[in-house]
Amino acid sequence: MRSLSILGSTGSIGCSTLDVVRLHPERFNIFALSSYTNTDLLLVQAIEFRPSVIVTKDEISANKIHELIKDVYKPEILYGISGYRSIASAEEVSDVVAAISGSAGLLPTMDAVINGKTILLANKESMVMAGSLMMDLCLKFNAKLIPVDSEHNAIFQITHNNYNNAINKIILTASGGPFRNLTCEQLCDVTVESALKHPNWVMGKKITIDSATMMNKGLEVIEAAYLFDMPVDKIEVLIHPQSIIHSFVEFIDGSLISQLGFPDMKIPISYALGFPDRITSGVEGIKLEESDDLTFESPDNNLFPCLDLAYQAFSKGMATTIILNAANEIAVEAFLNKIIPFTKIPILINLALESWSPKNPDNIEDILAIDSEARIKAHSLLSKA
Ligand code: NDP
Ligand code: MG
Repeated sequence: MRSLSILGSTGSIGCSTLDVVRLHPERFNIFALSSYTNTDLLLVQAIEFRPSVIVTKDEISANKIHELIKDVYKPEILYGISGYRSIASAEEVSDVVAAISGSAGLLPTMDAVINGKTILLANKESMVMAGSLMMDLCLKFNAKLIPVDSEHNAIFQITHNNYNNAINKIILTASGGPFRNLTCEQLCDVTVESALKHPNWVMGKKITIDSATMMNKGLEVIEAAYLFDMPVDKIEVLIHPQSIIHSFVEFIDGSLISQLGFPDMKIPISYALGFPDRITSGVEGIKLEESDDLTFESPDNNLFPCLDLAYQAFSKGMATTIILNAANEIAVEAFLNKIIPFTKIPILINLALESWSPKNPDNIEDILAIDSEARIKAHSLLSKA
């Protein structure tokens, strides 16, 4: 039996993970669940799955949960960053689902690595901030990273059996988001509400905006470079609006292999949970004869400059990808709060990247220092963007 800590169990990936776990009670024990703001859902999840530990944002929400749950059962209730870190490293845990959104996921994910866990990695921001350190620590502490991000999970499915330097390139597919067919002028006027309507995937707000700007694919290029030890010039992006194909690997003999499935995260999550077995996900197979035509096109880098910004940042090193990630988080939050328009997101990120070139970090302290300085700079640039 695998014993799981789910970081971010109240989010989109967290809930899909619990949907798969529910199908396989004989395989998985839930050791810990965690929320940030959604204590009501955490309480419902805790009552169903009876984890030994639950973690929430702060003492007030921890007390609230304690009052509401104490007559049902008595879990340990922790709060704050020390709580998230504790469930990522607990001895009782074999697998950690890293599904906190944004940079807040970095420290707990790294703790899981340092404690030699199997990490089901959804939190791509931790790889963008600390990819090479994370991969070094995985080797040192014998931790295993299994990608949950659908494209990376597809590549993992294709390559883990025959990863032998015979790969020519990786092609990450992208839906293109809700604004794929707009003109530059139309893009200036898009609303938060329309940006949050992803055509194919149901996801948290931050990644949904990242998908609309194409920064999500930029972050995924960086994530893939680290996870699969590939130079970025061998990682391409291809728009595939139907989101049925979840990436390709091209081998040196000209073979192109892909993984297909409905755009439902329960498929990659079940693969990561069951690995090396395959287990049911609750998702039907595709009837290709009934599906829409599968189409492909190149990304429009003029309309969506974030993808190029991510390639350029990666080529400059980890300090620059930390700035990219921090400035993107500030810009997305400002857009969601209607402080800047959609088209200012890449402008702010570019300004932040041009404003500073710190030395590449050697350790987690350096990473956190660059991240917090980059956030201060990005905030101060908001009025200039
Ligand atoms: P959601 O916004 O739906 O969920 C985020 C989760 O993290 C929630 O449980 C939230 O708690 C918690 N959380 C948010 N901020 C903090 C914080 N500061 N400290 C601790 N916990 C926090 O996001 P998603 O599930 O969509 O995405 C999670 C991660 O997975 C992201 O990194 C995303 O890029 C990646 N991913 C997601 C995919 C998807 O289809 N959704 C696909 C591929 C990757 P609460 O809700 O209680 O506030
Ligand atoms: Mg993805």
